[in-house]
Amino acid sequence: MAKHVQVGDIQIVALSDGMSRLPPMFYPGLNIEAHPEILNEDGTVHIPTGCFLIRGPGCNMLVDAGLGPVSIPFPQGMPAAKARPGEQVPPLSEGGLLPAALREARCEPSDIDTVFLTHLHPDHIGWIAPQGRPYFENAKVVYGAADWAPLISSASIDDPGRRGLEAIHSAGRASPIEGDMLNIASGVTARHAPGHTPGHYVLIVSSGVHRAYLLGDAVQCPLQLTETDIGFLTDVDAALAARTREALFRELESNDHAAVGMDHFPGLEFQSCNAAGILMTCRHRDPRRRSHGDASTIEQLAPSSSAPRI
Ligand SMILES: [Zn+2]
Repeated sequence: MAKHVQVGDIQIVALSDGMSRLPPMFYPGLNIEAHPEILNEDGTVHIPTGCFLIRGPGCNMLVDAGLGPVSIPFPQGMPAAKARPGEQVPPLSEGGLLPAALREARCEPSDIDTVFLTHLHPDHIGWIAPQGRPYFENAKVVYGAADWAPLISSASIDDPGRRGLEAIHSAGRASPIEGDMLNIASGVTARHAPGHTPGHYVLIVSSGVHRAYLLGDAVQCPLQLTETDIGFLTDVDAALAARTREALFRELESNDHAAVGMDHFPGLEFQSCNAAGILMTCRHRDPRRRSHGDASTIEQLAPSSSAPRI
């Protein structure tokens, strides 16, 4: 599937800032023996650090801002990725690719008028203000206010994410939001989707009858489509995150042909859904079976060579 979609007169482009190598412990509830295929040869799950560019009439919005120009080693006590012979253990997470990805999309940082942060975890805020200087000099930065206290003001004063967001505040560019179904720009609506973090939002992009959903970290892994017991280690409220996922799945089932983007889905490929349920690059045949954890209800769809027009 494509890494960009056209939603009426709005284009959405998926961009990667880098990748993380997650040991299976990041997916509580996952029976890894049943799904060895998700592991890379280094024994970890490789996930992209995704961002999205929304370009429409009067709107140049970046959704999430990557990890930034940093590399994070595996912390002590966490099972690390296996090093290749003669090589060092690779990092847990490495960022830095977003500027080149934006250039490739023919977008300058100064072109961005809005940065929307689905939530304030480090892999979503890294390019806001690296070294304390706003990177997107003309952008306001929109985020869920409920994330500030648990994730930013409680972090160490040297924390790069805290320093970056405080720089945005000092520059008068911060735009915290509360509530549900908020209009962010023409055709772009923020829906409160708490659980992964208290202030997590997803975006609904619509133009005419066309529609796309950007789900941030509300859904982390394709297996969560069929196995609702699988959570994510950094879900702040796991039970609420599971209820939010289920509610989003139900909403998507009634939105035939909507495109769906998620920050950490393999390859950052846009997914689509149809009346049979969520239809991703993996298809869900029978939504009623989702809670029974039957992985056989997922199957691959043939990749499409051109961007789907939806
Ligand atoms: Zn994330």
